[in-house]
Amino acid sequence: MFYIYCPYCGEHREEEEFHPKGQAHIERPKEPEACSDEEWGNYLFFRDNPRGVHHEMWVHAVGCRKFFNMTRHTVSYEILETYKMGEQPSITADSQNPPRETVPVSHPEGVRA
Ligand SMILES: [Zn+2]
Repeated sequence: MFYIYCPYCGEHREEEEFHPKGQAHIERPKEPEACSDEEWGNYLFFRDNPRGVHHEMWVHAVGCRKFFNMTRHTVSYEILETYKMGEQPSITADSQNPPRETVPVSHPEGVRA
């Protein structure tokens, strides 16, 4: 048993009161008729499956029945934050894993990459 913080109720509640509803921040194309089949298919069916920080939509089904977003780590299952619909996450994959300086790979003489 663990607890999830509902940003609308303003308190932690048992996880059994909630249901996941998939990836968050998926924007419907403004002009669906103008989409190619590939663009429409990507919108409908394809979702990110990252190893690490992920934003998900959840619903407080047995509470206030409102949808909200959650930032969760897919490896540790740690819930990093929850926030209301229309808000942006304060924690992102980039804020958790800032890009490292790239070091050029050196190849020994005579070895072709
Ligand atoms: Zn709630």
